[in-house]
Amino acid sequence: MKKPLIVQKFGGTSVGSIERIHTVAEHIIKAKNDGNQVVVVVSAMSGETNRLMELAKQVDSVPTARELDVLLSAGEQVSMALLAMTLNKLGYAARSLTGAQAHIVTDNQHNDATIKHIDTSTIAALLEQNQIVIVAGFQGINDNGDITTLGRGGSDTSAVTLAGALRADECQIFTDVDGVYTCDPRIVKSAQKLMVIDFPSMEEMARKGAKVLHLPSVQYAWKNNVPLRVLSTFNTDDGSLVKGEECQSDICGLAIQRDMCVIKIEKEALASLKKQCQMLGVTIWNVIEHAEWVGVVIKHDAYARLELVFNDKIRNSEPVSLLTAVGLQVEGLIERSHTLLTEQGIEVEHYALNVRSLMLVLSPEYVDKAANILHDAYITSAQAVECQQKQAFLG
Ligand code: ADP
Ligand code: ASP
Ligand code: MG
Repeated sequence: MKKPLIVQKFGGTSVGSIERIHTVAEHIIKAKNDGNQVVVVVSAMSGETNRLMELAKQVDSVPTARELDVLLSAGEQVSMALLAMTLNKLGYAARSLTGAQAHIVTDNQHNDATIKHIDTSTIAALLEQNQIVIVAGFQGINDNGDITTLGRGGSDTSAVTLAGALRADECQIFTDVDGVYTCDPRIVKSAQKLMVIDFPSMEEMARKGAKVLHLPSVQYAWKNNVPLRVLSTFNTDDGSLVKGEECQSDICGLAIQRDMCVIKIEKEALASLKKQCQMLGVTIWNVIEHAEWVGVVIKHDAYARLELVFNDKIRNSEPVSLLTAVGLQVEGLIERSHTLLTEQGIEVEHYALNVRSLMLVLSPEYVDKAANILHDAYITSAQAVECQQKQAFLG
């Protein structure tokens, strides 16, 4: 009988030291000893991608995109080799592969590439030899043979796409929290872990900044029915399962996106700014229309690229953060949020309503406080009411 196949992905904190790599090896060995074939995807050791990025910025504020990919991909290569060595030392046959060696083929969009397909023959042959296969996350190769990277947080997408291509029984994303919460648990202490979260809600949470899963990983898993679980490297909890096509809750959670900015331009310049953004691969998160000007919300790190070609038309720019409520019933929240936040001296610059979310644009200094206020009002208290109703019903 064919053995089940599991893809396990370990993020930066999980492989952050030799000691932690040892803990990771224990998880892998357990899965292997339980009778599974195991393919592992690793991120760079925590802080390493930022360190490499910083070095590149010291050379050039807008480094050559191709060379940046060569540089950044080195981080994952370090982790994969250290993990394979650890497993070998513990008596387990393991082989590490770069994205290119694993035949992860992407498009040509350096720094933000999309996986086009994966030829799994090399991995399959190694599994056949009873090896544990370790693949560098975040990277692939384009049709020219150049290294590409998948955008920050992209190792999740490597793992989920590999799981899909290999028809794995489960893709397990091991990280430094024990599942998907109603908000980032580091910011909102009362955030609750979701045992199950449906795909539409998870997609919207990831799109709006809940970095526990990289957006394309959620989209791929949803489209290709990849069984997806988020769990902790540091405890034995079952974590959260991402499952289901239907959005289940009125308000399922809040997402925070930092390091954004609003650039203000004349109204007439909007069309050409949009064109420039498209050419440079810069995502516009929102457009704020005022009587005299237009504000365009983009990631702060995209600003340097845009400034190079658009500087003369930009009036000014200011840093902002985004706080987004995700769920089915968000239309009615604008007025209540406005009252709740104003009472606490928090000014919201703009509200943007979408199908499954309400996004607030506000000054970075307020975002954590605002997240706690809205979480208490919309999630913690709603659950308290639900709990009281259940108790009353049960007598
Ligand atoms: P990794 O390095 O393992 O990929 P990330 O830092 O990319 O880990 O993602 C995990 C982090 O995501 C957590 O430490 C947490 O601070 C943050 N996070 C943001 N939103 C959420 C959420 N809704 N649920 C859980 N974690 C979240
Ligand atoms: N190392 C990359 C990053 O820090 C990719 C990842 O961790 O998923 O963004
Ligand atoms: Mg991540």
